[in-house]
Formats: sequence, C-alpha cells, structure tokens
Amino acid sequence: MKFYNFELIFLQKKESLKKIRFFLQDFINLFFPNSCTVCGRTLIKGENVFCTFCINDLPRTRFHKQPDNPVIQLFYANPRILYGTAYFIYKKGSRFQKLIHQLKYKGCPEIGIELGKHFGNDILGSVFHSADVLVPVPLHPERFKKRGYNQSEKICEGMSVSMSIPVDFKSVIRTVNTQTQTRKNKEERHKNVESIFSIQNPEMLKNKHVLVVDDIITTGSTMLSFAEEILKIEGTKVSVAALGVAID
Ligand SMILES: [Zn+2]
Repeated sequence: MKFYNFELIFLQKKESLKKIRFFLQDFINLFFPNSCTVCGRTLIKGENVFCTFCINDLPRTRFHKQPDNPVIQLFYANPRILYGTAYFIYKKGSRFQKLIHQLKYKGCPEIGIELGKHFGNDILGSVFHSADVLVPVPLHPERFKKRGYNQSEKICEGMSVSMSIPVDFKSVIRTVNTQTQTRKNKEERHKNVESIFSIQNPEMLKNKHVLVVDDIITTGSTMLSFAEEILKIEGTKVSVAALGVAID
C-alpha cells in the first residue's frame, strides 16, 4: 500500500515539475523570442520558432508514403476523397499538444506557419503535391474575430511556401458556429457539422484537386463535411491533410 502512495506522490511531483517547466518556458519566450518554442534552446541561423532537434523529435506519421493509412480510413465513407495524411501523431499531454494549444488559443499564429512549412517539405513530391490549391477549414466569422486569425489558414500559408501551391481561403465559408466537439461521440459530431459550410465562389475550385487542411484530425467529421461541400462543385477532387492526428 505504501508503495502505491509513494508512486502517487511521485506522479504528482512529476506533473508539477512539468507545469513549472512549461511556465518557465513561457517566461523565457517572453524575453528571448529567439529561443525554441518547445525546448527553449537558442535558435541558430536558418531556424525559426523551433530548433532542429524539436522538429526532428516530432512523432511524424509518414502516412503520405502509405496509401491506406489511419487518416484516409476515417474518410472511407466517401470514396471520392482521394488521399489523406497528417504530419505527426497528436498525443494528449505531450509537449506538441502544448504547441497546438498555443497556436489555437494563445495568439501564436507563427507556430502554424512554421509547422506548415515543415509539413509541406515533408510531403514534397508525394501525391499531395499534385493538389492545385490548398483550402483551410474555415472558422466561423465570430470565432475568427475573437482569435484574430484562422490557425488552419496559417498552416496553409506555411505549406504554400514550401510546396508552391496557392491558398484559397475565400471560396468556402463557415455559416454555423458549432459548439466544441470534444464531449460528443462520433455520430453526434457528424450531425453537429452537417451543412455548416457554404460555397461562395464555385468557379475558383471547379475542376481542381483541392487539398483540405486542418490543425488536428480526431474523428474526421468536420473535414468530411467540409470535403463533401467542396465535392458538390463540378469536377473537383479532394484530399485531406492535418498537422496532427489524434490516435489512441
Ligand atoms: Zn527545441
């Protein structure tokens, strides 16, 4: 019994140390913006936002080299969605989860741009490189106003730099502000995102291979609904890509 208590204390201590480390990191970043957002190491020439060690440490999926992978399997409901991938495995409690949290809620759009550049480099020359246009999953205007930017747009911006593919963030908009998806099951999630997008400018996407981009894929419901809206446009093909995929 005593052993278990000891283990619990150890875990609590470990958790507090983690919190202190994260807090110190935020503090360091405030005064030394030229340090790595993840580990605090001073950035050298050619590095931006993250150091090379942390980028190399990302648990990359390399799904772009694997046609039948866990991301595209989430979209089997619609065989017209061609390819699917994610840059890295997104695990709760990891330092990379903190990174996505900073991107979405802490006003750090540069994290999206930089990760987008690395992601774009990773999939250069793959089937995803055959896309004609990158389209970020849009935020509802109210949420956009509150956040000041759309994180998926920032990811596209970075991908566009390394892949030389244009970004279209105007042709499809979000018309319904959905509640957070985290407490809903898969069916509820899909229902929750049905017809929440609206095509504004079909001519811009007509006959194009569209690469739909989001930050994190969990069940794929939002992206599926978004992809299906785009597939209503004549001659379109859709593939999907996200920075992270949440796999248990
Ligand atoms: Zn680092």
